Amino acid sequence: MSGFDLDVDAARWRRSLGTVTETRPRLVPVIKGNGYGFGRDLLCRESTALGVDTIAVGTYDEVPAALAAFDGDVMVLTPWRPFFVDAVIDDRVIHTLGRVDDVAALAAAAPGARVLLEGETSMARHGFDRHELAAAVAVLGDLRVEGFAIHLPLRSVAPGGNYGEAERWAAALEASQVETTTLYVSHLTPGEVGALSARRPHLDIRPRIGTSLWLGDLGALSVRATVIDSHLVARGEHIGYRQRAMPRDGTLLIIAGGTSHGIGLESPKAVSGVVARGKQLAKGGLEAAGLSLSPFRIGGKQRWFAEPPHMQASMVFLPGDVEAPAVGDSVDVAVRFTTATFDAINLR
Ligand SMILES: *Cc1c(COP(=O)(O)O)cnc(C)c1O
Repeated sequence: MSGFDLDVDAARWRRSLGTVTETRPRLVPVIKGNGYGFGRDLLCRESTALGVDTIAVGTYDEVPAALAAFDGDVMVLTPWRPFFVDAVIDDRVIHTLGRVDDVAALAAAAPGARVLLEGETSMARHGFDRHELAAAVAVLGDLRVEGFAIHLPLRSVAPGGNYGEAERWAAALEASQVETTTLYVSHLTPGEVGALSARRPHLDIRPRIGTSLWLGDLGALSVRATVIDSHLVARGEHIGYRQRAMPRDGTLLIIAGGTSHGIGLESPKAVSGVVARGKQLAKGGLEAAGLSLSPFRIGGKQRWFAEPPHMQASMVFLPGDVEAPAVGDSVDVAVRFTTATFDAINLR
């Protein structure tokens, strides 16, 4: 079917996956949420082909499908909580712990379970303070510690940046009673991992990577949105749910791809001041007419929404001097892959 589709140049995409896997030794692919646009099952199958031993999912809800689609270990990035009553306890699942009370609770609920202890970085999302590690170790019971984890921001403002933070956690891990030499890291560059490995050669450093693995070569991906309908409109004609008046003569295109696909309203640049707004009006800009820029590209240019995107389609205005695509043609669309949902994913 042709709707709002993702076409993948499979050979090129897999070349890029292979390159990332080679250049990031001990990689753990992250497969969560919308599966970076591909869907999680497809990425689980690709991970098997890459030969990795472990993948990371975001939440416990994502565990059962991951266990079914991937044969190795499945790490859960969201830390375990006692109120996650449906949390799958399985010998292939590795849980994350970041609070002393949770260590004791999981040790009681699932003795023998495999766990990571997580340190709280400048992200301030989850994890132990370094002074809590001794207390955590004291209540581990029969839990099996498979590693220590740190999740860093995209760029830390702490001294020494992400490398500095990682190095301080590596030192804290070494000084602690936590019995593991495996350090899972998120958001360290290859150079930073290399430097950390050189500094602490006894550590097995395993990067957890989503975006730069799955979306590492955007040139292998093309998103196509199909034109479903097309109408000539005259300036002043009222259209759509909101019965907005069209700013000029032109073509109104109804294109597959709406809010349910992750198409959002991109607001026009703020035009501040009466003078600037007057200038824009004088130029006859569609922005001044109150339209918003859409992610659809036609004739080499990003075009304007005639009104906010609908659930599964968008109404896009094309000025009369631009040749309109035909019904059934597809147009380019710029999407954010972490929020996109496609009708079909075509590996070619
Ligand atoms: C989402 C996530 C990742 C992967 O992030 P990307 O930017 O997609 O590589 C790594 N670690 C943790 C803890 C995450 O939540």
